[in-house]
Amino acid sequence: MTTAIYSHPLCHQHEMGSYHPECPARIEMIEDQLISSRIDSYLDFRLAPEASNEQIARAHTMEAIALVRDKSPTEPGKYYPVDDDTALNQYSWLAALRAAGACIAAVDAAMAGEIDNAFCLVRPIGHHARPNMPMGFCVFNNIAIAAKHALEAHRLERIAIVDFDVHHGNGTDETFCDDARVLMVGFYQEGLYPFPAKGPERSHMLNIAVPAGTKGDAIRAIVSEQWLPALDAHRPQMILISAGFDAHREDPLGGMELVEDDYAWITHQLMNVAQVHAHGRIVSILEGGYNLSALARSVVAHIKALAELDDF
Ligand SMILES: [Zn+2]
Repeated sequence: MTTAIYSHPLCHQHEMGSYHPECPARIEMIEDQLISSRIDSYLDFRLAPEASNEQIARAHTMEAIALVRDKSPTEPGKYYPVDDDTALNQYSWLAALRAAGACIAAVDAAMAGEIDNAFCLVRPIGHHARPNMPMGFCVFNNIAIAAKHALEAHRLERIAIVDFDVHHGNGTDETFCDDARVLMVGFYQEGLYPFPAKGPERSHMLNIAVPAGTKGDAIRAIVSEQWLPALDAHRPQMILISAGFDAHREDPLGGMELVEDDYAWITHQLMNVAQVHAHGRIVSILEGGYNLSALARSVVAHIKALAELDDF
């Protein structure tokens, strides 16, 4: 297996204030844990290119793009508040271009057969970002941009988006709620941000609300009984993952009870689907996860599964 890790130093430079849980240390902890788990030498680290405005505009309005470009401050230490939870700093525009560019490059490499799958180790994160505005720690919707690229540049006809972040990927839901080429499967903890969580009912939008306290066995049942049959019926030519790890039992923002083994198990199920329908093509993209240690351990469990390095 060749698993690529796409990232860029600018993804460390975007930050939203010293109090903010969506912080550069998240990526640093994951990089540390990849080294200390000794799997780093088996991974193909790649520098993310910039996404073009045209690529971002497949999933966002020109007004949303202009807001990020024009409102990102020019001075160090200054912030432009987009909403109560989201801000732009001096590097946000450039980091957002690299975050989206990582996902596009990963799609291209997977389609070219250069790699089997990829993890995009990027910030700012994306799945709450709506077509017309950033929100909820998110600037551009990286997974929506990647899916649009796969559909339009590579002419794929069927894609699956899997979202296992504890929060509902409302921006992704909004982007594809009228596009049945995209099957979205996910779970989210009911009562958490964003409000209201769910988009309109659609047969290709299988986002399942679960209560606080939900453990891995209940999630595995949802995956087996609901996600996998839907995925098999859809026959996706590529699987994209909104990989948030804030449903971990140690996460301070979520109230669910997942552990590292649950993320590894889910990843293996998705690998099986990808082998049957998608030539193994998976592009996984970092979303939430705010306990730094739990985040880093969970990402490593996920990447070990992607790279078939479980025995390490
Ligand atoms: Zn989240």
